[in-house]
Amino acid sequence: MKTLLNLSLKFMNDKNMTKPEARLKLRHYSPFVMRHSMALMLALLAVVTTVHAKLNVVCTTPDIASLAQAVGGDKIEITTLARPTEDPHFVDAKPSFIVKLNRADALIEGGAELEIGWLPPLLTGARNSKLASGAPGYILANEGIQMLEVPKSLDRSEGDIHAAGNPHFLVDPENAKIITHHLAEAFCKLDTANCATYQANLKKFLEELDAKMVEWQKQLAPFNGEAIVAYHNSWVYFAKRFGLKIDLFLEPKPGIPPSPAHLASVITKMKAEKAHVIIVDPYLNRRTAETVARNTDATVVDVAQMPGGVKGTEGGYIALMDYLVNSLAKALAEKK
Ligand SMILES: [Zn+2]
Repeated sequence: MKTLLNLSLKFMNDKNMTKPEARLKLRHYSPFVMRHSMALMLALLAVVTTVHAKLNVVCTTPDIASLAQAVGGDKIEITTLARPTEDPHFVDAKPSFIVKLNRADALIEGGAELEIGWLPPLLTGARNSKLASGAPGYILANEGIQMLEVPKSLDRSEGDIHAAGNPHFLVDPENAKIITHHLAEAFCKLDTANCATYQANLKKFLEELDAKMVEWQKQLAPFNGEAIVAYHNSWVYFAKRFGLKIDLFLEPKPGIPPSPAHLASVITKMKAEKAHVIIVDPYLNRRTAETVARNTDATVVDVAQMPGGVKGTEGGYIALMDYLVNSLAKALAEKK
């Protein structure tokens, strides 16, 4: 590839030469050599493209995509369907997604019904056998994850609950470790030639994550057992990992909008539990949180589960976790 690049650079440089210079240079090559070296270049280019074609991976959400990027590095090409500021339960499914899925070598989805409302018809429309259930290109992020809140029965009156358990498992860095291990294994299966790179990328990511984990635990340790109010029940894994209590929600039930009566009961409970931090994802109604905050002297903290969902988290999974831990530690430290 490097040689090809050098060749084309040389060609470009030649074009910048003055006309007499170029004529002088061209005279050194017979038309036969010129024609054939051009054909050789094209043939080489074809070989290079076939051998080194990047693995074309579609990810449903940006959190999964950032982990796939960490493992895949420059050997994979990622398309992410949901935007970081979009509610992952209700993604605006565009027809272009079907084309992307049709051309993909692999799809990584949550695997716990987070995308159940929008992904299945797209997959059917894509007609891509590489992404069929059981195919190596169909990757479920929750494989090997200890799911929380698995319902004993599927009672829809309980709101938007999922048979596989709470699908917001990625904000626990220990789960990110399990997923990246699984992704490295899956990428190796799909692209054996680059397996060593995937394993090396994985090792580097895990080392960085482990070091950060020590920092994050230390930062949140002083707030062990403290209550935080969330808009939607998507922080159970994060709370469990960092010893926080996030079980009071502005939504009366998952996916059901807040009602005045429910908010009144949340305000009462917040005062009793001395909860003074409310977290809100970018796609939820911040005004509702602000109203509750005014009545409880609480602080509203903008959070996201997707890298890029709030400013300063664009760098990927570790940047997102850094932001979450820093902003929560700061808000919790404000004594009310
Ligand atoms: Zn949810």
